[in-house]
Amino acid sequence: MQTLTPPIDIRSLSSDQLENWIISIGEPKYRAKQIYQWLWKKKVTDLAQMSDLSKPLREKLASLVVFRPIQLDKSQFSSDGTIKSRFTLHDGHKIEAVLIPVTQDKRFTVCVSTQVGCSLTCSFCATGKMKRIRNLDAAEIVDQYIQVNQQALQHFDTPLSNIVYMGMGEPLLNYREVLRSTELFTQESALGMSAKRITVSTAGIAKMIRQLGDDGVRFNLALSLHAADDTKRNEIMPINEQNNLETLMAALEYFYLKTGNEITYEYIAFNQFNDSLLDAQHLVALCKMNFPVKVNIIEYNPVEGVEFKKSGKDRLEQFASYLYNHGVQVTIRRSRGKDIDAACGQLANKD
Ligand code: SF4
Repeated sequence: MQTLTPPIDIRSLSSDQLENWIISIGEPKYRAKQIYQWLWKKKVTDLAQMSDLSKPLREKLASLVVFRPIQLDKSQFSSDGTIKSRFTLHDGHKIEAVLIPVTQDKRFTVCVSTQVGCSLTCSFCATGKMKRIRNLDAAEIVDQYIQVNQQALQHFDTPLSNIVYMGMGEPLLNYREVLRSTELFTQESALGMSAKRITVSTAGIAKMIRQLGDDGVRFNLALSLHAADDTKRNEIMPINEQNNLETLMAALEYFYLKTGNEITYEYIAFNQFNDSLLDAQHLVALCKMNFPVKVNIIEYNPVEGVEFKKSGKDRLEQFASYLYNHGVQVTIRRSRGKDIDAACGQLANKD
């Protein structure tokens, strides 16, 4: 068993680790269960509020543990209801999370970050212009949900319904903590959500997609595709050089065979780059693999210093119609938060 030296960031412990630690400090095992529920079911970060723990136990814990919740630094409010927030981590680094309300179908989604910065340098992305500084731990990922859920309740009187891992960073390069965070979201003793409401999005790391299959995860998977042939994908997403489309398709098929979970391709439409009918033909071919797939076409949010422009409305619709007419389940996601720093990493990078 790993020896833990105080001060211990108590929210970084799994339920098993917490149980072992509680026993190691001479307390009965059931206390771990009580504390875990305070931390994750009731989302409390103050020992004084843990009212079913005795005062001597709370005092003992106060000398041994620390709480490091993320702190809200700044929010931007878009006229379309989108709220983008920047948070400060305990070591001063900044990350961002976005509340995306779709009020007509009562879908309130939070987009969470998994790393400070990102190592993958996709050419269209503001986060890709920062270096990867560090991975977030599971508590820092779940904290984004907790804080944005409060915003959803405050501004829309409705709790969040969905979580997408599509903010700063590549989730599959922070594999362990991302999986731990999904456990916290879904465990009955923690937040108790359905895994079907969670989508983890990857730029495409074939080995880790297969690992998700081997680990039998229950959440949905999205591939940030953005180009349907290797030449164009290499140009905008250097990760494609080691994980080409053939390798990725084989990994997705493996994931689907192992889990049966939903797979989506995310496809940002860049004007005159990947939105021609030939591009649509290539994309249709990638939709006829041995696994079912949905396509989300996303309007691009321009980033300063990046030459890509968003596709025109007609071009976007022609592209989507081609897919639809060839039997692809396709949705156009209009750009949200155009009047704020909507592109991923823009707000965290500011000032
Ligand atoms: S798009 Fe995603 S994977 Fe690519 S640089 Fe941006 S954050 Fe990283």
